[in-house]
Amino acid sequence: MKMSNMLLPTIRELPSDAEATSHILMLRAALIRQVSSGVYSFLPLGYRVLRKLEEIVREEMDRAGALEVHMPALIESDLYRQSGRWDIYGDDMFRLKDRSGRDFLLGPTHEELFTDLVRWWLKSYKQLPITLYQIQYKYRDEKRPRYGLIRCKEFLMKDAYSFDATLESLDESYDKMKEAYYRTYERLGLSFLCVDADNGAMGGSGSQEFMVNSPIGEDDIVYCESCRYAANMEKATYGKPAKSAPAEMLPLERIPTPGAHTIAQITEFLSCKPEDVAKTLVYIADGKPVAAMLRGDRDLNEVKFKNHLGCVNLEMAPPEVVEQVTHAAVGFAGPVGLNIPIYADIELEGVNNLVVGGNETDIHLRNCCIGRDCTVVDYSDLRCAVEGDMCPVCGKPLKLERGIEIGHIFKLGKRYTELLDCTYTDEQGKPAIPFMGCYGIGVSRVIAAVIEQNNDDAGIIWPEICAPYKVYLAALGRPGSAEMDAAEKLYNDLTAAGVEVLYDDRNERAGVKFMDADLIGLPWRVTVGRKAKDGIAELKNRRTGEVEELSFDALVERMK
Ligand SMILES: [Zn+2]
Repeated sequence: MKMSNMLLPTIRELPSDAEATSHILMLRAALIRQVSSGVYSFLPLGYRVLRKLEEIVREEMDRAGALEVHMPALIESDLYRQSGRWDIYGDDMFRLKDRSGRDFLLGPTHEELFTDLVRWWLKSYKQLPITLYQIQYKYRDEKRPRYGLIRCKEFLMKDAYSFDATLESLDESYDKMKEAYYRTYERLGLSFLCVDADNGAMGGSGSQEFMVNSPIGEDDIVYCESCRYAANMEKATYGKPAKSAPAEMLPLERIPTPGAHTIAQITEFLSCKPEDVAKTLVYIADGKPVAAMLRGDRDLNEVKFKNHLGCVNLEMAPPEVVEQVTHAAVGFAGPVGLNIPIYADIELEGVNNLVVGGNETDIHLRNCCIGRDCTVVDYSDLRCAVEGDMCPVCGKPLKLERGIEIGHIFKLGKRYTELLDCTYTDEQGKPAIPFMGCYGIGVSRVIAAVIEQNNDDAGIIWPEICAPYKVYLAALGRPGSAEMDAAEKLYNDLTAAGVEVLYDDRNERAGVKFMDADLIGLPWRVTVGRKAKDGIAELKNRRTGEVEELSFDALVERMK
């Protein structure tokens, strides 16, 4: 492709509204253009990358034995009403009406449609297992779209769904997909982690996320360098250190603490350590107030708390509820005399003489001992893991990093097949319901992840496998010069040899061409300059910066 025929308006200055490196570089290299907040057009260069990625994903899905289909993005609401998602999905779902007033949606994911297809087709256990997939646009009405392709309203996704007769068979289908994901990301040269994830509201028996490390990631990953334990924050547990014998119980004291309601203010006021303080947080679980009690310097893990309670909805209690159950201003909740169920974090078990809220404005209690002064329903792991916690597998210190989710695999079980009445006849001739798994890759988001991991100050550094072109051919010299003629011939020879070349035939200075070459970041830059008359061109590796001189023939051979 010749630059003179290309739609490639590269930008020198930094786009003002872009924060993520990948977003900045994709705008500057004219891969994408924002149409509205969270909605992007792919320009010629960007679309070539998207198609290449799509093809890699497709190859690995096909290799794993999955069958490609294509479902609509525009879906009538009835199936989503049957599954319940029309009601529980909330504001993230794009909803619309057709001209006769029927409800439609733009698919956020397609569990319902695949289950419906299989329900229609599936008669006998002999047809199982089967895994189907599509590469299709998905829609989510993000509250705050950001970071370009990382969080947007319309994005290309590969979603696959497996249907199996037994749990063992589901495990096999799941493992095949997992292997396909490893292969896909390894082929792209991504450095990634496969982490245990929470099953969330979808239920099911297991789930893992594929994450790439990135400072702009929106998820916390907890991992161990010694044994490869890795989990996302929602799911991460930690090894419990051996407990020392409990301290002798001291008499409960009531202490005025005017104006002190944060943990920092209390520790300063009472000159104690954060681990001597226990905070009591009031929540509403399925409409009823409950309390979580944990060390002052810890964060409650709401997913763990929710799973422990087994409730559907869990949210922090609004101030008026806190005031009503504690009879005090917000910030003074405590376990003594609190008339709602209290669930304590395991770290508090056997710890005496805690500083706690007094359920009275401007009052705290010192030397609170659970069991003597108050009771709790039970002790369980309710807090978020922190850097330095013990690995639950090998006991070494855990590490924490931010990550971007680029894939998610999930054992759904019978949730959708049951709700949508998908049945078949089993070996005994009885009706049975298949087990389901679902598997997603955010294809457009993976482009952002590749760029996040492959760039320098000058621009993108594409891995060869998904680069929009392989070679950036820069001709130095005015139109009609010997250099231009030689470059034109080299361009034709490379193209004839099947090499993807972006030929910079513009009448621009060398500096401009080299800057664009670095920004666009094709793996190889070929310069045809003064030595063109001797049949010599310069070859530069974008990643290593290595430069060598080659004859035109040798260069064509090498690039092939
Ligand atoms: Zn470990």
